[in-house]
Amino acid sequence: MTYRAPVDDILLSLNHGAGLLAAVKAGHLGDYDIDMTAAVIEEAGKFATDVLDPLNQPGDRAGVKLTDKGVVTAPGWPDAYKQWTEAGWNAVSGPEEYGGQGLPLAIHSAVNEIWSASNVAFDLCPLLTQSAIDALHAHGSDELKTIYLAKLISGEWPGTMQLTEPQAGTDVGALRTRAEKQADGSYRLFGTKIFITYGDHDMSDNIVHFILARLPGSPPGSKGITLFLAPKFMVNADGSLGARNDIYASGIEHKLGIHASPTCTMTMGDKGGTIAYVVGKENGGMSAMFTMMNQARLGVGLQGVGVADRAYQRALAYAQDRKQGKAQFNKEDRSKSDSSDPIIAYPDVKRNLMLMRGMTAAARTICYATAVAIDVSNRAADPKVRAKAATRGALLTPMAKAFSTDIGNEVAAIGVQVHGGMGFMEETGAAQYVRDARILTIYEGTNGIQANDLLMRKLQMSGGEAVWDLLGELSAIVSKVEASNDPAFGTTGAKLRDAVASVERTSKWLLEKIATAPREALAGATPYLRLFSVTLGGCSLANEALAARNDESVQGDAGRYATLARFFAENVTVQSGALERSVIDSADALNAADAVLVA
Ligand SMILES: Cc1cc2nc3c(=O)[nH]c(=O)nc-3n(C[C@H](O)[C@H](O)[C@H](O)COP(=O)(O)OP(=O)(O)OC[C@H]3O[C@@H](n4cnc5c(N)ncnc54)[C@H](O)[C@@H]3O)c2cc1C
Repeated sequence: MTYRAPVDDILLSLNHGAGLLAAVKAGHLGDYDIDMTAAVIEEAGKFATDVLDPLNQPGDRAGVKLTDKGVVTAPGWPDAYKQWTEAGWNAVSGPEEYGGQGLPLAIHSAVNEIWSASNVAFDLCPLLTQSAIDALHAHGSDELKTIYLAKLISGEWPGTMQLTEPQAGTDVGALRTRAEKQADGSYRLFGTKIFITYGDHDMSDNIVHFILARLPGSPPGSKGITLFLAPKFMVNADGSLGARNDIYASGIEHKLGIHASPTCTMTMGDKGGTIAYVVGKENGGMSAMFTMMNQARLGVGLQGVGVADRAYQRALAYAQDRKQGKAQFNKEDRSKSDSSDPIIAYPDVKRNLMLMRGMTAAARTICYATAVAIDVSNRAADPKVRAKAATRGALLTPMAKAFSTDIGNEVAAIGVQVHGGMGFMEETGAAQYVRDARILTIYEGTNGIQANDLLMRKLQMSGGEAVWDLLGELSAIVSKVEASNDPAFGTTGAKLRDAVASVERTSKWLLEKIATAPREALAGATPYLRLFSVTLGGCSLANEALAARNDESVQGDAGRYATLARFFAENVTVQSGALERSVIDSADALNAADAVLVA
């Protein structure tokens, strides 16, 4: 079953749910021509269908190999990567002065979803390269930018991001990789990194590694880490490639999923030390790391959306095809029918498919809205507009990452269920999405860390101002739904209103607790992120349904979006009351948990 990019849904979500159209009309995105959005998305869809999707299952089966010459990727991978860079896909959002196309992050995000849907293991390489581009552009010296930025943007030399060590996972500040300054101003690195995505491969002539390390005498913890750039092959003055640098993949992991993406142990310093250059300032690694991680978090959220959409497409096709029993529920009708029905005729299967589609659509809009906010924060002329958008982007980022990857797992699992026993067999492809999605809640900051971030940093920004501001917008959407008096919305308005009130009450309670009893507040971090996300997602879908009616570019029956919004509000957003209780009531039981959690 071939992947097809859901162009209509993507455009509706981008333009209306995420507010791209309004931002362009207000002049916040400079000279971006909104008319090109559809063309870019359609072209990306074709590339994904023709090149990336056909490699997804074979790549999963073939995996990668570590040889004497380094890591060898699955058959077809290097060629697909070449086609990818030649078609200019790596350069979509890169700065124009270094050869990028300068398109908004919102467009980059939409195509990122498409790459992830068709082949999430492939998407990881450009995703990490993008982090490297962001860090170098924001923090690098002119000299480093001149040598490396255009190559990273074109994708000719992809990037890696190397933080993790055996003792330093979530706590990056515990890293021990050592850096030593040389007389010529360069540095040598010594140490071992683990779990490094695309740490080595055969898809390009060179790789640009971004590595966090510690200089002698640096302050302990995260204040004493520095970001370094180290190429796999040194670059000569004329731009040609020189000697091999002392950084090697010494092992590759055997994993649950994303088999075609190499996850490497990287060894530095066995042959005299890795030659490296500081990006930014000595001991300034933390701020460079946040530049790298913030957009990567959004990128991983989009991987969740992509995998979910692909799982949905496959489950829908299977449910339309697979016949079992008779779906007529009264005896008389059953006896008249002598053929069996496709399983999509059964209400429970329909429910599963609607859940898959609804959760995917809600997460998509949360991710795109995050991207639009970041775009406005970077591009709007008015500093006040920029500052407000930056706050919105910061508030939405943990939800974009955690909610989208949580639902990526849930949707992929429902996809297997829809397939019945065949879903458990690798040949249908449904199982691969479950395996591939599993990592998404873990890397780029686990979802538990995202929930803590939402609570301890984002909710608290300006005393909750960003939250009240967003809730005001959501209330306005609810009022529009109620005013529409459209029976297609059913009880959507009431469900959304209750949910917005739940978020408001819970946020106020949490703000108080953070100040007086932070441990109690933190006990509710994960249900709070879910509560906020299902409310935001529900309101966004309703907003899109309202807009679809007046958008001539929407193909077919625009009313289907109201049905989807209603289903989501009445089945998912309706959980807000329980989530509110979970946040507010659960702290005592968690405080007493030590008595239970004994071996
Ligand atoms: C396939 C794969 C690819 C990866 N790619 C890269 C890469 O390219 N570059 C790179 O640098 N790293 C990479 N990683 C590493 C990844 O980012 C880490 O695995 C992740 O940050 C979690 O660290 P950890 O595995 O040490 O888990 P731990 O930090 O040990 O966490 C274990 C559990 O404890 C929880 N926990 C830990 N600390 C806290 C806390 N303070 N508050 C609440 N809960 C907490 C976590 O949420 C988690 O559930 C990759 C990992 C994998 C598996």
